[in-house]
Amino acid sequence: MTDVAQQFTYTGTPGRVRFGAGTLETVAEEIERLGCKRAFLLSTAFQAPDISALAERIGPLAGGVFTEAKMHTPVDVTERALAEFDACEADCIVSMGGGSTIGLGKAIAWRNDAPHLVIATTYAGSEVTDILGQTENGEKTTLRDPKIRPEVVIYDPNLTLGLPVDMSVSSGLNAMAHALEGLYAPDANPVMSLLAVEGIRALKTALPVIVRTPADPEARSGALYGSWLCGVVLGSVAMSLHHKLCHTLGGACDLPHAETHAILLPHTMAYNAVAAKQALQPAADLFGGDLAGGLYDLARELGAPQALKDLGLSRDDLGRVAELAAKNPYSNPTDVTRDGILGLLTRAYDGARPATS
Ligand code: NAD
Repeated sequence: MTDVAQQFTYTGTPGRVRFGAGTLETVAEEIERLGCKRAFLLSTAFQAPDISALAERIGPLAGGVFTEAKMHTPVDVTERALAEFDACEADCIVSMGGGSTIGLGKAIAWRNDAPHLVIATTYAGSEVTDILGQTENGEKTTLRDPKIRPEVVIYDPNLTLGLPVDMSVSSGLNAMAHALEGLYAPDANPVMSLLAVEGIRALKTALPVIVRTPADPEARSGALYGSWLCGVVLGSVAMSLHHKLCHTLGGACDLPHAETHAILLPHTMAYNAVAAKQALQPAADLFGGDLAGGLYDLARELGAPQALKDLGLSRDDLGRVAELAAKNPYSNPTDVTRDGILGLLTRAYDGARPATS
């Protein structure tokens, strides 16, 4: 007897993970394990001191340092970085940072096939996905390709002790959104559902502690562990209404990525609560049975933004966004209609608690 009723397809995701406090020490060993000799090191300008310290630590294995990684992976930055990669005769990439730096590393690796080692310092989850978003001439395009997924990821929670609390909260809730949508994905499978529930549990436990005690080592470790699992889900199964709606709002109204996710999550889960009741049940159980209400209360406890009006959006924009969101059909447990989305957006605009079912 088995309790797995449906058919499913599961493809294991490759990649090596080193997890734990102090694993930054393993960078040189991991570069050599890849069979490489000269790494091209990447960061944002903000994390330049950290990447320079790493270059010093690995000595001759550091072939060059590039500290111009930017949000949304502009193609002109990638082209400059590629020229420097070639000029210093590097044979692999080491990205240290969050989704922006990892995006640059992926953009280089996708073009030149160089092995890519990531030292992840936020909860965004990009380090374990095969997804690359790039911008050129003001337009963002997203592509998926197995060769985009980094070969090695180092998760050293010590590097996240100083991640600002607001960023920790919004990127942690963003990670939870990957896992929640993974539960009702059209290509969901039991392995990803296990990872999703465990990832949500770990983040739900760790984030309130981080808000109270930002440098708590155990909570930092738990949040990074949870974000890894949620990232694996994002990189393995399809996302639905929540991610598409955040993308539409970001593109049409230029709203910030992580905050938009944090505000919409209780409302998108309420929208799908009835149609995806069975798939979402293990996550609802973590919130005392009421997933949407529980997510709303958690966001409040964490001090996360809760109303779209606070992001500078005008109420007049909601109709246009609802129309755009309903225009291109995609898989979602509940039908995506203009009126349905307008109702969802209006509650999210006002910061109202989602209706529980
Ligand atoms: P980020 O990489 O943009 O980082 C924001 C700022 O925080 C940067 O200045 C960075 O240097 C700094 N920072 C990073 N780690 C820090 C730390 N530990 N302590 C102090 N400062 C730190 O932020 P993000 O949320 O990780 O990434 C957002 C981007 O990633 C978005 O563009 C998003 O679209 C993309 N993303 C992509 C995927 C994917 O699979 N392709 C997944 C999730 C997010």
